[in-house]
Amino acid sequence: MRVIVSGAAGFIGSHMCDRLLKEGHTVVGVDNLLTGSLDNLTHLRSISAFQFIAQDVTQGFDAAAMGVAVDAVVHMASAASPKDYLAHPIETLDVGSAGTRNMLELARAHGARFLITSTSECYGDPLVHPQVETYWGNVNPVGPRSCYDESKRYAEALTMAYHRTHGVRTNIARIFNTYGPRMKLYDGRVVPAFLDQALRGEPLTVFGDGSQTRSFCYVSDMVEGLYRLMFSNERYPVNLGNPQEMTILEFAERIVKLTHSASTIVREPLPEDDPKQRKPDIAKANRILGWEPTVPLEDGLQHTADYFRRKGTAAAD
Ligand code: UDP
Repeated sequence: MRVIVSGAAGFIGSHMCDRLLKEGHTVVGVDNLLTGSLDNLTHLRSISAFQFIAQDVTQGFDAAAMGVAVDAVVHMASAASPKDYLAHPIETLDVGSAGTRNMLELARAHGARFLITSTSECYGDPLVHPQVETYWGNVNPVGPRSCYDESKRYAEALTMAYHRTHGVRTNIARIFNTYGPRMKLYDGRVVPAFLDQALRGEPLTVFGDGSQTRSFCYVSDMVEGLYRLMFSNERYPVNLGNPQEMTILEFAERIVKLTHSASTIVREPLPEDDPKQRKPDIAKANRILGWEPTVPLEDGLQHTADYFRRKGTAAAD
């Protein structure tokens, strides 16, 4: 297949490109590099089945540049970390709305299948726990995170509309917290922040009292789920994430232990609308895709810490 991947220079996007190429597909990666980095794609420079186009999918989209044959569109472009989308709220809304529209039009024009990576943020600060796909969520539509949450909720609605109106073969993944190599060290997310602090021997900054929960999925598990979903007939959203839930305080303690760090833990104010609990119910993914995460947290964190050390950005000195 010839697959167009938006957000190809991003963390999960670049891993998705690797997976598609490994499966023998041809990939055209598109990214405007607002939050992504070409560093994530340098290893693909000499691969003839891969092409990169620097383009903003929200702008007058050059569909012709995508070539005549498009078999699949994988729309992953978006700022995704709270720090990034708070810095670029309008771009975030644009990529979920105009960007999704343009990518759906591309899929429609070519009769291509379409996969969008949505988010657990669709559930907001959830009142149902663990989060099951049929839960409609508890989102503050005007809070600081709303630029991301509502953008993705709109993108899901648009995707369903294209499926219902134009018969596009669509899939919607709701991605929960994911980590691994190629995450940006300073994107503010908890995995790179804690690993960096632990490797430097600096205090780990736990926001609030640390009782909020998350669960962390290693990127290879996530990409496996996305790849399987792309070929499924499920049109409604499917949660992809790791259901192993823990408090952020517990997570900080595990990172200190894993890295053999002398770091202490300090408290910082909890950001507004920070979800108090999050854990995916993955029964649906398990049932229809035969999927569940397999990489243990300690192994995944070790690979991620090694990556940051190799990059030389986190102090190993
Ligand atoms: N967090 C923290 N310290 C940090 C960064 C994040 O305690 O240095 C907390 C944050 O408040 C949230 C959780 O870790 O409760 C996950 O934050 P992240 O930004 O990684 O993603 P989110 O799940 O909130 O989208």
